[in-house]
Amino acid sequence: MQRGKGLRYSARPSRGMKLFNTLTRSLETFEPLDPGGRQVGMYCCGPTVYDYAHIGNWRTFVFADLLRRYLEFRGYTVRHVMNITDVEDKIIRRVQETGLPLREYTARYETAFFEDFETLRCRRPHHTPRATEHIPEIIELIRRLMDRGIAYQAPDGSVYFSIEKYVAAGGQYGQLARVRLDQLRVGERVRSDEYAKETPVDFALWKARTPEDGDVYWPSPWGEGRPGWHIECSAMSMKWLGPSFDLHLGGEDLIFPHHEDEIAQSEGAGLQQPGRRFVKYWVHGAFLLVEGRKMSKSLGNFFTLRDLLARGFAGREVRYVLLSGHYRETLNFTLEGLQAARGALGRLDECLARLRELAESHAGTASSLSGAEAPVPDLLGPFETAMDEDLNISAAWAAVFEWVRELNRRMAAGTLTPAGAAAALQQWARVDDVLAVGERSEETAPPEVLQWVEERQAARKARDFARADALRERIRSAGWLVEDTPKGPRLKRLPRTA
Ligand code: AMP
Ligand code: ZN
Repeated sequence: MQRGKGLRYSARPSRGMKLFNTLTRSLETFEPLDPGGRQVGMYCCGPTVYDYAHIGNWRTFVFADLLRRYLEFRGYTVRHVMNITDVEDKIIRRVQETGLPLREYTARYETAFFEDFETLRCRRPHHTPRATEHIPEIIELIRRLMDRGIAYQAPDGSVYFSIEKYVAAGGQYGQLARVRLDQLRVGERVRSDEYAKETPVDFALWKARTPEDGDVYWPSPWGEGRPGWHIECSAMSMKWLGPSFDLHLGGEDLIFPHHEDEIAQSEGAGLQQPGRRFVKYWVHGAFLLVEGRKMSKSLGNFFTLRDLLARGFAGREVRYVLLSGHYRETLNFTLEGLQAARGALGRLDECLARLRELAESHAGTASSLSGAEAPVPDLLGPFETAMDEDLNISAAWAAVFEWVRELNRRMAAGTLTPAGAAAALQQWARVDDVLAVGERSEETAPPEVLQWVEERQAARKARDFARADALRERIRSAGWLVEDTPKGPRLKRLPRTA
């Protein structure tokens, strides 16, 4: 594996990180296209902003965040792009129902999406392009496909992608989804953005304006209309990452037709250098079920992140559950699982709090230790070994909790020095850069709460206990609990109730 200068792991070049590539249906060692081996381009299909994202959606976005964070942990410089689908069939239907202008309708859900994104501690992508702001690029891409004879305008005025012409020109339609082309129904067309796997048919690139579209249309060389969903992602990913990039992510439901069609459009336009594909690694996350069933409003098992926060759970608890299983395995989400997450994170928090106390106690306990100290249990080694293996998160969690047990044992036995505790905390900081589930006082305590804590300390010192209690209540109503420890007050986040 070729690696650039200054990478943390250049001393161990033989070890690679493995990922399962849907294109080849095999585990492959990740090697970026960048000849320097350092820059990584990653695109993840973003939300369709027609409603609040549900926890199934969040599983996919948190999985994308995990992969990005782990690549960064490994020393890569990731350029992460996630589009915002702000025009497609479902959105148009909602816009019609509500009578709101398109932008006004989608802005509300886009804002909510990014609030949730932060609550779940996902790192912001470097670019979050909106489809409606890339109409010229989309038109240009369709024009190129027209010029190459792979797209055609049908009698209904819409422009379609011709699978027959693409295949005749050497394109490999069906490779990603393993669709059999002997079922190809030549010239048969589908205008809807979503269609069944069994139907490799010509799909819409540009949809001619219809009365149901209302005000949602743009001019184009083929008349007024709007883009199809698939072409949006081809145009935006190639604009921001170039015609060939490393990683393309999404939920497994997107393999067909969305990603199959993205490959056809992007490679059909022939912008890649000879020998290069549109995307090197296709990585798909499995679905999330709730209580063993597909989420649906009628079954009463449909949850947005907001529903869970309203039940008093914290973003990091939801994140922990979403990261509790391997990304290629179906995840069964339950409220009991979320309760268990609280317990597991509580054990972790407690261990870390004790490590902090010990680390801050300087030489105090060290003098009570005799002779050579046993080395601090290693967390980074087992964590990396697990994550290098196609993001084996279950093994990574097992390593974390084994480490917690061992440290607790050492602390109980009084055989951990303050320096050992500090070293353990450093290991955790590295690991939590990837997992992002740790308690974070700086993130969690807003300035006014910190101010009240200080005022409360002053009141206690002045023996004004009535005021101290009133301040404690004020802090509590802001969602925080003050605990008085020998080292001073400590803030704890209370579960959210609204
Ligand atoms: P959408 O907003 O519907 O375009 O979906 C956004 C992302 O969520 C896509 O990558 C989907 O594959 C993914 N997704 C949708 N439902 C689920 C689910 N139940 N479990 C996991 N991912 C999902
Ligand atoms: Zn997409």
